[in-house]
Amino acid sequence: MERRTLGRTGLPVTALGLGTLTMSPMQRNLPVDEGARVILAALEGGIGFVDTAQGYRSYPQVARALAEWRGPRPTLASKSAAKDAAGMTRAVEEALMALNVEVIDVFCLHAVKDPDDLRAREGAVEALLEARRRGLIRAVGASSHWLGALRVLAGDPRIDVLHPMFNRQGVGLLDGSLDGMRQILQRARAAGQGIYAMKPLGGGHLRHQAVQALAWVLQQPEIDAAAVGMASVEEVTLNLAVARGQPVSPELASRVAQQSRRLFINEMLCQRCGRCVERCPQQALSRQPGEAEEAGRIGILYERCVLCGYCSADCPVFAIRVI
Ligand code: SF4
Ligand code: SF4
Repeated sequence: MERRTLGRTGLPVTALGLGTLTMSPMQRNLPVDEGARVILAALEGGIGFVDTAQGYRSYPQVARALAEWRGPRPTLASKSAAKDAAGMTRAVEEALMALNVEVIDVFCLHAVKDPDDLRAREGAVEALLEARRRGLIRAVGASSHWLGALRVLAGDPRIDVLHPMFNRQGVGLLDGSLDGMRQILQRARAAGQGIYAMKPLGGGHLRHQAVQALAWVLQQPEIDAAAVGMASVEEVTLNLAVARGQPVSPELASRVAQQSRRLFINEMLCQRCGRCVERCPQQALSRQPGEAEEAGRIGILYERCVLCGYCSADCPVFAIRVI
């Protein structure tokens, strides 16, 4: 497994990182034991970088795997959408406790939407800088789907690591092109920021070309690593083979491609509050116009949805699932 360094942080990562959103209660909802088994299979296969988030609720799965793992500890990244200093300080403490570790390697602002959103999170940035000074985290990061946000995050001296949406077809990039994203990442890289890509398979849209899409992202000179969601040992096996440059059997590629997923809103639970519509960075959700019964019902544009899970994290009644 190719090992790299996450920009100026000096943190060791493997090019292929494990993302835990797909196994979390937000998506496939694997029991803790089963999620831990998938993570352990990845670690045994040589993956040394694990990405989680406060909003994914996957800490128990990661913690169980870490408790059972006898090898070197993987580099750990987490994130929080906390807007202020107190919330971010609590988020770091929660991650340390829940994962049962003394330090989180990378802690990111989760899903920065635009420059105004970054300004509104000044307190959260300060809290992360303070956590870094205190040795509770090693690097401050920021994740985003948006070129508008990444343009200001690239080169920001307070931000050590970027976690951008980056895949071979530019799936999910609503405010710019893949080339535009590449230029931003080149600037970030020149400034020494570490970069690990999210959604290399476009939130499932590229699953029918998973081998090519994953091989592509791992070869891009702009990134140090890619976090790939894995929720089965079969997915781990396929991804490890691609990362090692080994052939993948057509049967395995086809089985993994058939594990299609899509967003589902439980109408029985939905209160039509509209929070998910506000939260979706892809403009994939909308409130339906109409009379009585229909008014405020949430419509889904599946071709825009990248299964990032932000809407389900914000739903007060947990009505949104990926099935
Ligand atoms: S946030 Fe949840 S309850 Fe509110 S409209 Fe969306 S699905 Fe319905
Ligand atoms: S609908 Fe939900 S999961 Fe899909 S892109 Fe929007 S926020 Fe992400």
